[in-house]
Amino acid sequence: MISLECVSVRLGNGRLATQVLDGMDLTVDRGRTLALVGPSGCGKSTVLRTILGLVQPDRGRVLVDGVLVEPATRAEVRRRTGFVIQNGGLFPHLTGGQNAALPGVRAGWDTSRVEERLEALSELVELDPATLHRYPIELSGGQRQRIALMRALMLTPDVLLLDEPLGALDPRIRWRLQKLLKSLFERLGTTVVIVTHDLAEADWFTDDIALLHEGRLRRRGPLSEVAENRDDDFVSAFVESHGHLRLPTAGGGPAC
Ligand code: ADP
Repeated sequence: MISLECVSVRLGNGRLATQVLDGMDLTVDRGRTLALVGPSGCGKSTVLRTILGLVQPDRGRVLVDGVLVEPATRAEVRRRTGFVIQNGGLFPHLTGGQNAALPGVRAGWDTSRVEERLEALSELVELDPATLHRYPIELSGGQRQRIALMRALMLTPDVLLLDEPLGALDPRIRWRLQKLLKSLFERLGTTVVIVTHDLAEADWFTDDIALLHEGRLRRRGPLSEVAENRDDDFVSAFVESHGHLRLPTAGGGPAC
């Protein structure tokens, strides 16, 4: 379970400092998937970075499965949390396999344990194991993201944080990975927070969507609830920017 309790974060120095999160209360029950949506700059990545302990709140607190995230527990929280970013964040001088293996190697696993886990994970993410001998530059965007996912899952994390993991992929690859991720979320039972700026993608992954605006939680629930009551200017503009979606009308009835 993840809890953000009235979390405020200010980043930058002096007069240039920005209030990035402003009294954010957010809970994700164990094994559930939450999609964080909102316009660029609303604080989505900062929520993930705060859960990971990369950013320390000025006010409020963050707990992961009951453990308070603070400098003393950061390493433990990171071990229990898989993190995937938009372009995979693979090290270019390591092969795909070496990248995926890193958490196991760092945890002191012996070679055969690492290799067994790599084999199981490549099957799980539907990646040809031969691909693991290539360097990131020799891989497609989809292959890089599958390897980033393997790395995130290496230590069987309790929590998986994904920061626009599919944002840089072409639509065909993106669709394949959307299907893969959704089935993984269901099979693994991990607590997941996935960031996307796309309401349709959020709706595909989960019926629990949090809409953020200027560091605050503006809406929470399934798409139908997030998108209703469009008398709120921000919600209305954000929902209408997804004109291709079949959304409830302002009156709550089905879109025609
Ligand atoms: P999102 O993921 O929704 O696009 P972010 O969480 O990345 O938003 O950023 C939220 C806001 O915080 C943005 O305005 C961004 O410019 C600002 N910000 C992020 N990191 C820093 C930093 N280190 N110093 C100052 N401002 C920052």
